[in-house]
Amino acid sequence: MQILIPADQIAHRVRELADQIAREQQGRPIFIIGVLTGCLIFLADLVRQLDLPLQIHLVQASSYRGAVTVPGQLQLRLDTLPDLTGREVLLVDDILDTGQTLSKVVDELRRRGAASVRVAVLLRKEGRQQVVFEPDYIGFCIPDAFVVGYGLDYNDEYRHLPYIAVLSHPSGRG
Ligand code: 5GP
Ligand code: MG
Repeated sequence: MQILIPADQIAHRVRELADQIAREQQGRPIFIIGVLTGCLIFLADLVRQLDLPLQIHLVQASSYRGAVTVPGQLQLRLDTLPDLTGREVLLVDDILDTGQTLSKVVDELRRRGAASVRVAVLLRKEGRQQVVFEPDYIGFCIPDAFVVGYGLDYNDEYRHLPYIAVLSHPSGRG
């Protein structure tokens, strides 16, 4: 496995993102909504750097595909969310690939009455996007390879790695 982004670089960048978010939020409460499961580590590190009144809520999105970067059927579960009316939402996810997941979740959060929805992703994969969608905060842009670690999995493994690594796998991609 080849390390793409070491742990210290991630920590540094997460602090920068938190500073930017806090500056723009100007002390107003923020409603953090994480997209499980990939958001886990990024969200945990980000919120601990955020000096703002905030709530944390979680939704689930999964499009099973293992290491094959062809999106499968998207399944969203937002039934755990409280009333969003008038809330300033920050949606947090691990990676923007085709953009299908986040654009659908954002639409749904707006439909539920959020006053604003901004989006933070740790990673954005270049050359993969299929929908017009621009995250407000991006940690790193990465090339089109399958990555694991810092929350990102392959068949539910590797999420605990403190760095982002490129997974070489049997199908020959990545
Ligand atoms: P999108 O809807 O943007 O195509 O899909 C985003 C989701 O696909 C991410 O939240 C993540 O779960 C998964 N994904 C996309 N690319 C990768 C990758 O390189 N590695 C891993 N582990 N998951 C990925
Ligand atoms: Mg995901």
